[in-house]
Formats: sequence, structure tokens, C-alpha cells
Amino acid sequence: MKSRKAVVTTMPSKTNLKSLSKPELESFVKDSGLPLFRAKQLVHWIYERHALSIADITEFSKDLREKLSGKAYLSSPELVSRLVSEDGTEKFLFGLEDGERIECVLIPDEERLTLCISSQAGCAMGCRFCLTGRLGLKRNLFAHEIADQVIAAARIIAPRRITNIVLMGMGEPLANIENVAEALRRITGLMKISPRRVTLSTAGIVPAIRELPKKAPPVNLAVSLNATTDAVRNSVMPVNRTYPLGKLFEACRKYPLQPRRKITFEYVLLKDVNDSAGDARRLVCLLKGIPSKVNLIPFNPYEGAEFGRPDDERVLEFQQVLLKGSLTALIRKSKGREIQAACGQLEAGYR
Ligand code: SF4
Repeated sequence: MKSRKAVVTTMPSKTNLKSLSKPELESFVKDSGLPLFRAKQLVHWIYERHALSIADITEFSKDLREKLSGKAYLSSPELVSRLVSEDGTEKFLFGLEDGERIECVLIPDEERLTLCISSQAGCAMGCRFCLTGRLGLKRNLFAHEIADQVIAAARIIAPRRITNIVLMGMGEPLANIENVAEALRRITGLMKISPRRVTLSTAGIVPAIRELPKKAPPVNLAVSLNATTDAVRNSVMPVNRTYPLGKLFEACRKYPLQPRRKITFEYVLLKDVNDSAGDARRLVCLLKGIPSKVNLIPFNPYEGAEFGRPDDERVLEFQQVLLKGSLTALIRKSKGREIQAACGQLEAGYR
């Protein structure tokens, strides 16, 4: 599990068609002396039919498949392990071409089937309650490695269909904004998953929150908040020292929301750290005037964790204060805890 050897053979002399954006794919087709409609067919087979190789594209003649296979290929993440939790949550560990590893989590919830994907191998943000944060950053994922998690998971779970995507797995999406934006263009434009069903979660990199609407399709924004004072947030989320609450909320207030959309604020409840009635009241004040909803996530302790989980009564009291303050506040049940697939528990076998 801890081996770092490459799990997929790289083919440096060939072009990985998945590494190309749609315009680049069109140029590749043109440069190969093929008519433009071939690019449309490639997009269809890669992003909707989930072809594993050029040989799978049976709409092409054998000659054309052989010609293309001589100069191009399709990469796929290697499924290293698949764990299924009692509540139906599944965790996939994928190996990338250079041997790095990432995880994504499939979460069934009534009629929804949500895939939580990673944007980086590891993470540099160092949030103290998060196992991924302890890994440090291994590297940014390329756009195709982000989008490929959706393709690979869709193949694995067929005929079930993924309905929603959240970028809440390993990594800080806005620290890899260019690749994330291109991956979102592919997920919403080429795989045809509505932006309304896609949510990007950030720890709060303020300049990138401002940039996001200019660079990416209009997906939902979630902010991992987890504190109501700078002192507490500084201590649990180092990003707050650079972008304190005042700057973060200013960016949220100015965020150009689509009609009837809200910003989701995630709040991991840490016993005796951020779970008091006073915190709840401050949260009501902070969110005034922002179309918002709050997801309360009682902390999932793991071996060696610095924090505890508040008892259920305390969690309910916190929620009540928010509800009385006219906020929408849901308590998120932790899913997949026994397979370490819950929030903040992804570490891809690195430890
Ligand atoms: S919570 Fe998110 S941003 Fe913070 S360390 Fe974990 S993966 Fe990184």
C-alpha cells in the first residue's frame, strides 16, 4: 500500500488525449489530418461513454483506431482499493501515473449519489482537524486527473449514476484553481453534469474566491468555516492568518451568486473549541445578509486526533440557536466512518 512505484505505464512519446482541453483536442484532430467531427466523437467516447482506450472507440474504423493508437492514448487512474461501508458509502483509492495516490468517496443519500473528489494529492493548508492536512502537499492534480475520478467512479458503479459532485476530498481546490476550473468545464460541459449539482469547497483563499466566477462554470460555493473568531480560526485553520474572517466574509458578501443559490458554510464542531452557544450566536451575526446555509459536522475522531466530538445534546443546542436566528442549519450525519471515508479522514494510505 505504501509503495511509491508508478502504477500506470506512462507513454511519453504519445499524447494523452485526456490531458487536452476541448480546443486542444480539436487542434490535435486537425493536425492529424482528420475532419473536425472526429473531435466531437472523441469527446463523446471519452466523457460520456467512458472509453478506457482508443481501441474501445468502436465508432471508428479499425484502421483509424490503429492510426490514432500509434500516436495517442487515454490515461486512467488505477483502482488500488475499494472499501464499502455498512451505510453504503464507498471509498476508492486511485494510483496516478507517477505513483501518487488520491481518494474519492461515493456517498448515497436518498435519491442522490454524490461523488466527493480530490483536487490535490495531500494538502498544504494544515487544518488541524484534518488527516489530509497532516500529509502536506504532494502535488497539484492535473485537470484530467480531477475529472478522471468522475469517469473512473462512473465506470465502477455502473449502472448506478453519479448525480452530484463535491470537491471536498483531498486538497484545497482554490490552491489549484487553473486545473480545477478546466476540470469543472469538462465535468459540467463534456460530462453534462449540471453546475447546480457541483459544489466546490474552500478553506478560504480569498483572492481565489474572487477569481473563481471569472474562471469556472457557475458551480456552488462552500466555505469550510469552523470558527467564529479569528483567534480560534487561526489556531485550527492556518489559512485564517493570511485571510482572516473579515476578508473572508467580505469576499462571500460580494460573491456573484446565481438566482436562488446560497453559499454553504461547513462547520466542523470540535468539543469545547467552537461548539458553545456563544459561537452559535456569533455565527448568526456573521452570516447576516449572506444567502447561506450551514452544515454542522460533529468531528469524526481518528487515532491520534487532537480534538473530541461534542455530545449530541450540545450539537442540537448549537443547531437550535442557528434555527432561531433564521438560518438553515443541517446536522450532517457522518458517513463511512469505519472505512475512514468521512470528512477530514482521507489520507490515501500515505501514513
Ligand atoms: S480540511 Fe481541506 S483544506 Fe484543510 S487540510 Fe484538510 S483537505 Fe486541506
